[in-house]
Order: sequence, then C-alpha cells, then structure tokens
Amino acid sequence: METTPVSEDCCVKVAVHVRPLIVDEKLQGCNDCVTVSPGKPQVQIGTHSFTFDHVYGSTTGSPASSMFDECIVPLVNGLFQGYNATVLAYGQTGSGKTYTMGTGFEDGCHIGITPQVMNALFNKIDSLKHQIQFQLHVSFIEILKEEVHDLLDPTSPNKSDTASTGKVHVSGKPPIQIRESSNGVITLAGSTEVSVTTLKEIEACLEQGSLSRATGSTNMNNQSSLSHAIFTITLEQMPITGDGSTNDVMNEEYLCAKLHLVDLAGSERAKRRVHINKGLLALGNVISALGDEKKRKEGNHVPYRDSKLTRLLQDSLGGNSRTVMIACISLADINAEETLNTLKYANRARNIQNKPVVNR
Ligand code: ADP
Ligand code: MG
Repeated sequence: METTPVSEDCCVKVAVHVRPLIVDEKLQGCNDCVTVSPGKPQVQIGTHSFTFDHVYGSTTGSPASSMFDECIVPLVNGLFQGYNATVLAYGQTGSGKTYTMGTGFEDGCHIGITPQVMNALFNKIDSLKHQIQFQLHVSFIEILKEEVHDLLDPTSPNKSDTASTGKVHVSGKPPIQIRESSNGVITLAGSTEVSVTTLKEIEACLEQGSLSRATGSTNMNNQSSLSHAIFTITLEQMPITGDGSTNDVMNEEYLCAKLHLVDLAGSERAKRRVHINKGLLALGNVISALGDEKKRKEGNHVPYRDSKLTRLLQDSLGGNSRTVMIACISLADINAEETLNTLKYANRARNIQNKPVVNR
C-alpha cells in the first residue's frame, strides 16, 4: 500500500437527476413542484433549497448528456490509476434510477451510465493495449432482504423462486458470502465472476443480469424496488516489457481496482419502520460518519458492518475510492414528500472526504 497525493476529485460528488413528468403523471394532472436554478447546481422544493455538485435534467438543469463526462469519466480514469470507485443511484421507486444506470436494453435515444462505462473502458483499453496487459472481470449481484444473490448464475437464469423461498438458491447454492482479506479487500465467495475480453461479452453480462433481475420481480411485488443491484467491474493491469512478456516478476506496476455501479432499492421504504431497508439506512449512516471529520478524528467507527450493502462497498466507499451519488427525483407534485427526503439524504453525502490510497 502506498499513499499518493490527494487529487481534487477524491471525494464524494453528489449529482441530482431530475426526470420530467411521465405520461401517467400528466394524465393525473400533476404539476411541477421542483425548481432548478438556471446555470447553478441548485434545487428548490417548497421553502427548501439545496446545492449539489451538479443538477441534470428539467429544462433549466445541465443537459443529462453531460452527466457521464462530468461525473463518471473521472472514475473510469481513476480505475486505470488503481482507485476503486462507486456510483450509487438513489431515489424513490419510479424516480429514474434504473433509467440512469442502464440495463443494456435501452433504445437509441438514451444510454445509461453502465453501458457508457463499458464503452469508455474498452476505448481506453484499446488505446493502451500495447503497453499494458489488462484483465477484466464482471460480477452482477442483487441484495434482497440482507441476502446476496447472483444475477449471473448460469444454473439459475430465472431466480424468481429464490426470493420467496429464502435461504437457498433454486440451484441449491447457499447465498453468497462477503469476505474481507487481511489487507481490507472485500470479495464475494460463491458469486459468478465472468472474465471478459470484448465489449460484446461485457454487454451480454449486463443484459443477462438485468433480465434475471426483471424476471425475479414478476413473482413478488415489484421486487426490484426492494433490492439493490450491483454491477461490479474489476480491472487488473500489468505492464508489458519491451520483449512482449508481462512484467509480473517485478510486480511493481501491478494495479487492481474495481468499479461498483449500484442501482439502489427504492428509498420510499427507508423511512417506513415496518419495511425499513437496512442497506439504505446503513448507507446513510456510513456516509454521514465518513463526512463528519470531527467524529472521525475522535475515532468513531464507520458502521460498514450494519448491512450487506455497506459491507460489500466497504473498500470502495470512503478510504481508497471515488464515489458519485446520483439522486434521482421526479418533478411531479405527487412525489414532493419523497423528493424532499431524497434531497435531504443526498445532502448528507456531500461532506465525505476520502483519503486516496492506491492498491498495489
Ligand atoms: P426506478 O428505477 O427509480 O424505479 P425507472 O428508471 O424505472 O425508475 O423510471 C421510471 C419511469 O420513468 C420509466 O418509464 C423511465 O423510462 C422513466 N424515466 C426515468 N427517468 C427519466 C428521464 N430522465 N427522462 C425520461 N424518462 C425517464
Ligand atoms: Mg428500477
């Protein structure tokens, strides 16, 4: 482990993505209840005003098409320097989290963040492939009711029964375990890790897992609103020496970093005591603990172990990583209460300062 100088973008960035009224809301006669300041990353709702790093969408925010370049490209570039990263889409069900992250099934006019990340990764790999040997691995899991399930399990393409039967996978496999190595690296035991060498292969992983998640949701009441879906890309790099052999004897320049692309559970459950979502609650507490410098100096611990979600993201949230939270909100007045909750939650995230450490 080696520390490198703090660079400006080593902290949590919070962006808001405002979605327009959908047909249903228009038919119900909904009005806008959110105002976005033109040219400023500010959102007003009722008497509340919030400032974020970026605000995208609505007619007055930045164009959503610039979100990728401004928020995500630095994370992709950071991966090549050995920095872990996490992108979190937060918001109530229907606010646009899945739309923002992407499933691989989008039509021509909109591309989600995950497919754009995959494109950018392969472009960069292509331009560096003569100097560096790359290995890419992908996993795609879902956390439902504090259990980790494999969305890429080849033996369980339709895992809809898994959710209702609880502990054991349809395939007979036990739920996936989260492990921590002695150097603090978090791994998943028992999940499918696919090694990919082409854009087509990685796209197929996203599509397969998205389909598996969607199929599961027909069985239960919109299960995807209760679960967190995490698409993880791990990038390993090894320099190629002059004679074409890899420089793995020295091992000095070996870098490994991962990017988690997270479509979180619907936030509307976070405040209802009966259906409290442990992950969102813990994520909020972790984020606030990381952001509170005074508390951290006093040695207060960061409560990563309070949920599977925060445990899984432990080495990629705070410490050695870059994080972007995209708070998804709707303009519609029927969602005003949830929108205000989302903006408050996202506002808590803005104080985190990560200490950048490069994995070597
Ligand atoms: P969530 O995943 O948060 O439940 P979705 O991503 O499924 O929400 O979005 C709900 C609906 O709103 C979908 O029909 C989606 O196509 C639409 N939608 C979401 N965000 C936008 C946006 N920025 N622009 C246009 N339509 C959107
Ligand atoms: Mg969704």
